[in-house]
Amino acid sequence: MVAASPDLIEDIDALRMKFRAFLDSAPKPAGLRNYGPTPTAADVEPGRAWHRYLADHGYTCLHWPVEFGGAAATVAYQAAFAEECARAGVPRQLNITGVDLVGPVLIKFGTPDHKERYLEPIRLGDAVWTQLFSEPGAGSDLAGVRTRAERTADGWRIDGQKVWSSAAASADYGLLLARTGPDKHRDLSMFIVPMDAPGVSVRPLVQMDGESKFNEVFFDGADLSDDALIGEVGQGWAVAMVTLGRERLTLGTQAVAMFQLHERMVNAARDHDLLDPVLSRSMTRLWTRMWLLRYTWQRAIDSGDLTSSAFSVLKLMTSETDQDLGDVATEVLGTDACVDPADSGEAADLVHHMLVGRAQTILGGTSEIQRNILGERVLGLPKEPR
Ligand SMILES: Cc1cc2nc3c(=O)[nH]c(=O)nc-3n(C[C@H](O)[C@H](O)[C@H](O)COP(=O)(O)OP(=O)(O)OC[C@H]3O[C@@H](n4cnc5c(N)ncnc54)[C@H](O)[C@@H]3O)c2cc1C
Repeated sequence: MVAASPDLIEDIDALRMKFRAFLDSAPKPAGLRNYGPTPTAADVEPGRAWHRYLADHGYTCLHWPVEFGGAAATVAYQAAFAEECARAGVPRQLNITGVDLVGPVLIKFGTPDHKERYLEPIRLGDAVWTQLFSEPGAGSDLAGVRTRAERTADGWRIDGQKVWSSAAASADYGLLLARTGPDKHRDLSMFIVPMDAPGVSVRPLVQMDGESKFNEVFFDGADLSDDALIGEVGQGWAVAMVTLGRERLTLGTQAVAMFQLHERMVNAARDHDLLDPVLSRSMTRLWTRMWLLRYTWQRAIDSGDLTSSAFSVLKLMTSETDQDLGDVATEVLGTDACVDPADSGEAADLVHHMLVGRAQTILGGTSEIQRNILGERVLGLPKEPR
C-alpha cells in the first residue's frame, strides 16, 4: 500500500524512485502493452490483471479521497506516477473513463448507493466504463445533444445515438448525457447506463491505425431505473463540466512519453542516416517545446489550482506538439512510413504513434475550441459571433 499521505512526502524525486522500483519489479501480465487511456477488446484481460495488481498495492485512483480507497494524492504525486508508468511502458489503469472521469463525478454528485455500488469495482478494475457524451450532431457544441430521456412510471426511457464512445464495446456501464427538456443547457441530465440493458446496442468503429477503440451506441427505448439519475434532473451540464475538467488534466501527463518518442526518432534518423541540419533543426525545436511544456506543466501543478487556465494552454500545446512529433516521423522514416501500423518493429510503432496523434487535437475539446476558450476567458477578447 502507499505508505504515507502523499502530501507528507516532500521529495518528489524520492517518490519517483520509489515508483520506478515498484514498476520495474512488478510482474507484467502476458500481452500487456501501454495501450494508452483506452484498451482494445484484446487489451482488456491483461489490462484488468495489471490494474488489479496496481490496486492491490494502492496505486489506482490516486486522486480519490482515502475513504473511497484512493490516496488523496496531490497533482504532483499523480503526475509523477503517470510519468513513471509512461517510462516503464505500462498503462496506469484499465481505462481512464472509470478512474478519472466517472469516479470523481460519483464522489461529487452520486447518492450513497451509487458510491457503494460503483466505486469499488472501478478501483479494482472489475468494471469498465464508457463516456456517452458526443453525438453525430453534438461534439464541440456538446450542449446540443439530442438523445432523449423521458420519464416513465418507474424510471427513464432513452432514445437516441452516441458516437466516439471509447471502450463502449467492452464496457459494463456508461455515463450518459441526455436531454430531459427543451432548454439547451438547463434541461440536460446525467445517467448511469448498464451497457447490457435491452435497447442498448454498440457498433464498433475501426480507426485508421487499424485498432478499434471507438464505437457508436444506439438507444432504442432503453429503460433505466429511477436511481440511474446522477444528481438532480437538469444538473447534467454541471456534471459534464466536472467530467471535462478532469479530462483536460489527464492530458498534461504525456510529456514523458513525448521525450521517449523524441529519443527514438533521433535514433531512427541516425539509423537511416538522415540526421542532416534541416531535420536536426526540426527535432531541436520540438525538443525545446517539450521542455517548455514540461515547465508549464510543473508550474500548473505547483500552483495546486486545478481550475488554472494553464491546463487549457497545456491541453492545446501538448496535443499539437505530440502531433507535430508524429509528423516528423514521416521525414525520419522515409518510405518506411508506409508500413502497416499493426506490424511489429520500430517503424510500425512510430507510424502507429503518428496516426494516433491525429486524435490528440480533437479529443477532450478540439484545438480550435481551446483557442476560443483562451481568447475569450483568459485573454478577454470579444466572443466569437454566434
Ligand atoms: C481519441 C478520441 C476519444 C474520444 N472519446 C470519446 C468518448 O469516450 N466519449 C465521447 O462522448 N466522446 C469522445 N470523443 C469525441 C470528442 O469529444 C469529439 O470528437 C470532440 O468534442 C469534437 O467534436 P466533433 O468530433 O463532433 O467535431 P465538431 O464539433 O463537429 O467539430 C468539427 C470541426 O469544427 C471545429 N469547430 C467546431 N466548433 C467550432 C467553433 N465554435 N469555433 C471554431 N471551430 C469550431 C472543430 O474544432 C473541428 O475542427 C473522443 C474523440 C477522440 C478523438
